[in-house]
Amino acid sequence: MKIATKLLRWYRVHGRDLPWRHTRNPYHILVSEMMLQQTQVERVKLFYRRWIRQFPTWKHLAQASTQEIIHAWAGLGYNRRVLALRDIAQKISQHGVPRTQEEWMALKGIGPYTAGAVSVFAQKKRVLPIDTNIRRVLGRVLLGKPFSDLQDDKKIQKLSEDFLPHRGAYYDVPQALFDLATMTCTKVPDCTRCPLREQCKSSKLFLSGTVKIPKRMTKASKERRHRNKPYPDRIYRGRILKIVREKTKISIEAIGPLIDKTYNHHLDQVWMKSMIQRLSQEGFIKQKGNNLFL
Ligand code: SF4
Repeated sequence: MKIATKLLRWYRVHGRDLPWRHTRNPYHILVSEMMLQQTQVERVKLFYRRWIRQFPTWKHLAQASTQEIIHAWAGLGYNRRVLALRDIAQKISQHGVPRTQEEWMALKGIGPYTAGAVSVFAQKKRVLPIDTNIRRVLGRVLLGKPFSDLQDDKKIQKLSEDFLPHRGAYYDVPQALFDLATMTCTKVPDCTRCPLREQCKSSKLFLSGTVKIPKRMTKASKERRHRNKPYPDRIYRGRILKIVREKTKISIEAIGPLIDKTYNHHLDQVWMKSMIQRLSQEGFIKQKGNNLFL
């Protein structure tokens, strides 16, 4: 039996029931994809339905204020995504919905993966969006590489020409791969439970128990951190934004101890100002004199 057929059969029984898998609306699919970048599926599930109720169409989002969208996005993190999403909604409201993967990619904020995902899930184009999960599974199955890297994408893309069916539910193949990557073909895979065990070029290697996990997969995150702070700057930036949102107006001096209990005016002042400057350059907050506003 062909790989895709086995995969789809497995997916019908084990696939996750996620709200964005019940629609072909390009706007809804794009919202889910933007939310899923860097945010866990379980968390996105909490936000997705609420967002669609509040901003049901491209037009509703295009007309929303920065304050409204930042409020609605609060809790998802990486706020730059929501500004990009509204920019895209504004462009699409004026010029119409893109029809090809290339047209999606022409919109700022949409890379090859997202363009592929919207094309296949909303418009049923026969394309394969490659993200970390799909790279890992197909790198193992098709290339026999226990741990693939970015360089393998072109090879995977080429091999997917034969691998993706031309008929049937080819548009569900990427969803099935995501689920297999989450449930079975994880960093350290459980090949004994995998539907692709017989066809996979890496299964014997894993089942022999001789595979070593490369250091790059266990290395600590390289996110920017200040001094001995326990969290990356991203977390403190999120806290600044939350406080500015809640207090409407607050001074720069007052915000330090509110986002970090160990805040030291002499040691942390420059760090704090640089985060505020970045948030302001990115359009999240405004600075007037010594005060901050949303
Ligand atoms: S057989 Fe093992 S390595 Fe291959 S796809 Fe399945 S879980 Fe992954």
